Amino acid sequence: MGKDHGGDEIKAVLILSGGLDSTTLLYKLLADGYQVEALTFDYGQRHKKEIECARKISALIGVPHQVVDLSAITPLLGESALLGGKEVPACHYTEEAAKQTIVPNRNMIMLSIAVGYAEARKISEVYYAAHAGDWAIYPDCRKSFIDAMEVAVRLATAWNLVELKAPFAGISKADIVRIGLGLGVPYERTWSCYQGGEKPCGVCPTCIERAEAFEINIAKDPAVRPEE
Ligand SMILES: [Zn+2]
Repeated sequence: MGKDHGGDEIKAVLILSGGLDSTTLLYKLLADGYQVEALTFDYGQRHKKEIECARKISALIGVPHQVVDLSAITPLLGESALLGGKEVPACHYTEEAAKQTIVPNRNMIMLSIAVGYAEARKISEVYYAAHAGDWAIYPDCRKSFIDAMEVAVRLATAWNLVELKAPFAGISKADIVRIGLGLGVPYERTWSCYQGGEKPCGVCPTCIERAEAFEINIAKDPAVRPEE
């Protein structure tokens, strides 16, 4: 049953990467009564496993899901470590590590397509899971970027108005994990690591950030299994 909003069910489009943040947002939207359609973008990322996670989680909970193939634009986006052009740094997030792992303008590219998708289906809300920890790191996760995009999206879709929503914009990754643990998010089915290995590498910036978020919650990350 979707969220009742003046008699109409509220539908939402979610950009679902298959990682921790957007999967938590998926579960939160469903708990809030939204009917969610999820979009995952294949932009040539090294960690294809993330896309598989998004597909499996959507199937598990019966959420309509599509993978949008943007691999044709990968050669236009330079030499990001996430696209296989450079080594993935093995350190905490720093400005240098962020510069190596940024995919240029990724969020605006994905949001533009998600907003077009929503408008075509008369779905009035598009969600993405940028959070406060991303701000200092990636320009297209900054609060000022989100605020500007909210305005741009409203202007671009005036005939079938679409609202951009980033409900995690003011909270940390540890806060997201706390919300997700409360909602029973199956974190063992999510993927964050920038390396596309069998198991999370444990040393790349996003592995370190994820581990810290669980530690703050005095919880174990079920995606990290002890050595057999
Ligand atoms: Zn890693």
